[in-house]
Order: sequence, then structure tokens, then C-alpha cells
Amino acid sequence: GKQTGRGCVVPFDPDMLGDERHRRFVERELRAAILLDELELHYQPVLDSQTRQVRSYEALVRWRHKVRGTIAPNQFIEVAEQSNLIDRLGEWVLRRACTDQRRLGRPIAINVSPKQLRRREFAEAFADILMETGTLAANIIVEITENAPLTAGSVEMETLAELRAMGVRIAIDDFGAGHASLHYLRDFSFDIIKIDRAYVAEFSTNPVSAMIVSAVCDIARSLSLQVVAEGIETEAQAQALTAAGCTCLQGFHLGRPQPLVRDKMICAA
Ligand code: C2E
Ligand code: MG
Ligand code: MG
Ligand code: MG
Repeated sequence: GKQTGRGCVVPFDPDMLGDERHRRFVERELRAAILLDELELHYQPVLDSQTRQVRSYEALVRWRHKVRGTIAPNQFIEVAEQSNLIDRLGEWVLRRACTDQRRLGRPIAINVSPKQLRRREFAEAFADILMETGTLAANIIVEITENAPLTAGSVEMETLAELRAMGVRIAIDDFGAGHASLHYLRDFSFDIIKIDRAYVAEFSTNPVSAMIVSAVCDIARSLSLQVVAEGIETEAQAQALTAAGCTCLQGFHLGRPQPLVRDKMICAA
């Protein structure tokens, strides 16, 4: 049966996301949630693979619904992207991450939807929030998923270049999950590659996956990029991905996403 309360994820019915009426319902509720401050960021540490020190945190949005409990982003980001709500949600995420950055004492990575980058004034609005919150651009990393292919010379790519010129670092998220990986490396300047967790999960059982990860690490080293292995769930994976050349590790084994409460991190579940 359904559970509610802190730490539990009660989804909207994902099969109904294709249903227009259901989508409109989620959209209306989400619009109110942004205004009522029902969103929350959880932070997951990204560790240096050699020293196991925390290098940065990834901000992951949660929706604390008064009736449904905590809702995970895959239940509502798509709806937000289909409406213009993603711009407001994204702005909320950036402002909150900037506000929390000083207390976390490390750079923070935020996830940005390609649709947000299509707005011509995105970089300017971004700079305004950094200024307003007194956050250094060098302390913010923008993650952009490789799943949504961006083409050379597109507005999205120009926006990323503007952010990078400001000193914001850019990470390609879910690397290997889409079909644009190599073309991204060829056409654009990034700072960080985040290897999709499907490759991490298969690393020890699929020799081809392991070879691809090692090859990506070699390329990254020659381009002076950081490589983060996502979805590390065991110590064996942590060691294997470190040996393969990943400079950073992220996953439940090393730290779960947790809310920031006053000056310390607390456990979510
Ligand atoms: P992502 O950016 O690839 O984030 C990593 C996801 O993997 C997170 O799921 C995280 O909780 C999960 N994860 C971390 N370590 C492990 C592990 O060891 N094992 C497994 N199985 N999973 C792990 P989450 O928080 O549900 O987020 C899902 C996706 O939603 C994110 O994938 C990102 O694409 C999107 N998202 C999250 N927050 C935001 C946001 O503020 N804005 C936008 N546009 N998208 C967001
Ligand atoms: Mg991410
Ligand atoms: Mg990812
Ligand atoms: Mg993902």
C-alpha cells in the first residue's frame, strides 16, 4: 500500500503522464508548490576518488507534497519542461543552491534542462542570482544531460558558453546514455564528464562497458576533464572505477542525497 511521510516517495501515476488532464493537474499543483515553497533540495556528495574527500555536492530537487509525501523529480520535471514552469523551477533551484552553498562549503552542481538554455536571457538571469546571493561562479557547476542532444551553434550551446565564460563549470550528465557523446566532446568545451550509472552497474560483468569507461577516462585525461562515476553502490565498484581512471565518485555507497538542516546534514530516511 501507499506510504506517506518524510523520506517516502509516493509517485503520481507515471502511466498517466501522457494523459493531458493528469498533466494539467500536476502542472497546477506544481505551480502552487513553487509559490508555497514546497520544494526542497537534497545534496549528494561527490568525492575525490583518491582521497575520498568531498569535492562538491549535487543538488537534487524534491517536492514535499502535503498529501502525497515526497515526490521524486522524475515524477514532475517532465511536466515542468512541457510547460513554462521549468524556468521558474530552475530559478528557484539556482537561488536555493546559491543560498546553501556557503554553508556546504563546497561547490554545488545543479541540473539544468536544455529547455531553460533556450531562453536568450538565461545567462544574464543566472548572473543576477549569483550577484544577489554573493556566490562565486566558480562555486557553481551546471549539469546538462547528454540524453537531450544539443547541436553546435544552437542557442543552448551559446548559453552554455556564456555561463562558462562567467566561470561556471559545465558537466555532461548521464554520459553514454544518449547518442551524442563523442560529438559533444568534439564540438564543445566542458569541464566534467559524469559517466551514466548504467555503465557503473555493468562494469564488472560487461567487459565492453568496462573498456568504454576506461577509454572515456583516457580521453578525459588528455582533455584535462574531470570524470565522475555515478551510481556507486558498493566498495568494489568504488575501487574498480577509481582504477579505471575516474577522478570522482558519487553514489549511495559514498553518501545519499540529504536535506541541509541548519549547519549539518541530516539523514533523509
Ligand atoms: P541525475 O542528475 O543523473 O541525478 C542522479 C540520480 O541518481 C538522482 O536521482 C540520485 O538520487 C540517483 N542516485 C544517486 N546515487 C545513486 C546510486 O548509487 N544508485 C542509484 N540507483 N541511484 C543513485 P533523483 O534525485 O531521483 O533525480 C533524477 C533525475 O532528475 C536527475 O538525474 C536529474 O536528471 C533530474 N533532476 C533532479 N533535480 C533536478 C533539478 O533541480 N532540475 C532539473 N532540471 N532536473 C533535475
Ligand atoms: Mg545530475
Ligand atoms: Mg546523472
Ligand atoms: Mg539522470
